[in-house]
Amino acid sequence: MSDTPTPDANPPSGAQLARFEQTFPTLSAAEIDRMRRFASPRAFKAGETLFRSGQPAPGMFVILEGSVAIVQRDGLGHETPIIEQGPGQFLAEVSQLSGGAALVDGRAETDGSALLLPPARLRDLLVAEAELGERITRALILRRVALIEAAASGAVLIGHAGSRDVIRLQGFLTRNGQPFHLLDPGVDAEAAAMVSRLGFGEADLPLAACPNGEVLRNPTDKAIAAALGMSGRPDLTRVFDVAVVGAGPAGLATAVYAASEGLSVAVIDKRAYGGQAGASARIENYFGFPTGISGLALTSRAMLQAQKFGAEMMIPTCVRDLDCARPDSLRSLMFEDGTAMTARTVVVASGAQYRKLAVENLADFEGRGVWYWASPLEAQMCAGSEVALVGGGNSAGQAAVFLSGHAAKVRIMVRGPGLKETMSRYLIDRIAATPNIEVMPHTQVTGLEAREDGALARVAWRQADEDGGADIGHLFLFVGADPATHWLTDCGVGLDRAGFVTTGGEGRGGLESTVSGVFAVGDVRSGSVKRVGGAIGEGAQVVAAIHQYLAAHEEVSA
Ligand SMILES: Cc1cc2nc3c(=O)[nH]c(=O)nc-3n(C[C@H](O)[C@H](O)[C@H](O)COP(=O)(O)OP(=O)(O)OC[C@H]3O[C@@H](n4cnc5c(N)ncnc54)[C@H](O)[C@@H]3O)c2cc1C
Repeated sequence: MSDTPTPDANPPSGAQLARFEQTFPTLSAAEIDRMRRFASPRAFKAGETLFRSGQPAPGMFVILEGSVAIVQRDGLGHETPIIEQGPGQFLAEVSQLSGGAALVDGRAETDGSALLLPPARLRDLLVAEAELGERITRALILRRVALIEAAASGAVLIGHAGSRDVIRLQGFLTRNGQPFHLLDPGVDAEAAAMVSRLGFGEADLPLAACPNGEVLRNPTDKAIAAALGMSGRPDLTRVFDVAVVGAGPAGLATAVYAASEGLSVAVIDKRAYGGQAGASARIENYFGFPTGISGLALTSRAMLQAQKFGAEMMIPTCVRDLDCARPDSLRSLMFEDGTAMTARTVVVASGAQYRKLAVENLADFEGRGVWYWASPLEAQMCAGSEVALVGGGNSAGQAAVFLSGHAAKVRIMVRGPGLKETMSRYLIDRIAATPNIEVMPHTQVTGLEAREDGALARVAWRQADEDGGADIGHLFLFVGADPATHWLTDCGVGLDRAGFVTTGGEGRGGLESTVSGVFAVGDVRSGSVKRVGGAIGEGAQVVAAIHQYLAAHEEVSA
């Protein structure tokens, strides 16, 4: 295999070649010399495996002599060669910043030698060498994007497309930037054969075949994350300067600013990075992105940035309790799996959770036709059909416009007389100009009916004084959110009547809660602007307050 793009009927365009060069750059001798202080020498023998999919990789290799083949291998053992890399080229993708598992195999084709930069030294290089660091960072991102697009590595999910747990696992892996693909045993003979060969039946689906050889039966998010080696857990005996609860925009911004200013930072999230913003198909009002940016694209960059500066990620991990009554004035976080960690300060960035609708059998349809966000995954499912959306805020408006590009018709149902009071003007105008969106004022959903297989088939409503209904398989709810503060109940952190964290009381900084050393930022904070820009601004701002607190307590870590 050569290291130039494979020739095909359509020769690659200039843009494709440029992208290829950016994905697999060759470093100059001078650049490699500048890397030596971060690296140790490593010889390899022909046939040796330098790193293996699903296993922790030792770091980034820079090849000095010889060549290494990079191969994608999925959970069923299918192999797809990607490229052969030689002198001056480096072997790494995003996972190597945090010591996570490799997503590809690296096999030496010849004897040779390399420089090896372990994750911490790779991060040091990216920070110390701005220009070289930028080239390497860009390559790491492009390689991960290519792996996700190719879907020829990572987990293989075996299950029925559209089933609740398949959708849950697809969402979890997508939101965490993991490559995977789905095989439906109803249509794919190999998948059907695999299910029966392993002695599994319909009730065991979905299965997840992982590159480390494990086959999991309908795994929890945490179980599949562990099998894929998604996050290297930090050393929990260490005392961190800052523990950030929540990896939405507010938590990630806190992590980027705190870690870049030399504080030791752990970020904990129960599901994925990105928070609510990670589910937003297009954020159009975030400063600096005139054409809009998807929430996942924005927050995956922030995630990488936080890791580059050394913030350690614990995803997925759910915080169960906070203990602020220790005699040493440290704060302890207890996790749902029974483990715990200690930090000098805690930043509450746990955001908000979607509110439900008062319809009796709503829960039966969650994940089977009732959705709380509209990502490209849901949009695909709605293609050509009629959908309904409840809510009159900006997130409802954006979702309606986005879905109107896929669905045959979108109904927006609101309790009040219209959208004027609750939605930005630009969205109201856009909705008015979209012929397949109908706004239904004075309307409430009154019932949901199932298809034979249990998925949503029909939505009934009451509009003014008239009952109505239609065959609708997808109902989107954007009816507001409640703060995720249940884990703060017994620790003395003050909450307002709606459960949001109060900050800035007498003698306290603007973002400090009623417990000193515990701060709150973003949607979870009482009185905050519920916007991505606001959450990010508060994440930046809180770091100054943390410095002040640590200086007053003379506790900044060495
Ligand atoms: C569909 C949609 C579209 C939107 N579009 C826009 C837009 O265009 N422009 C805009 O400005 N705003 C938009 N918003 C609002 C914006 O996304 C939020 O204001 C922003 O995400 C708030 O960020 P946050 O970090 O404070 O909280 P969140 O984004 O809510 O993140 C909180 C994180 O904390 C985690 N967490 C909660 N409890 C725990 C626990 N106990 N342990 C561990 N982790 C926990 C959650 O898993 C979550 O990842 C949109 C929201 C949605 C839902």
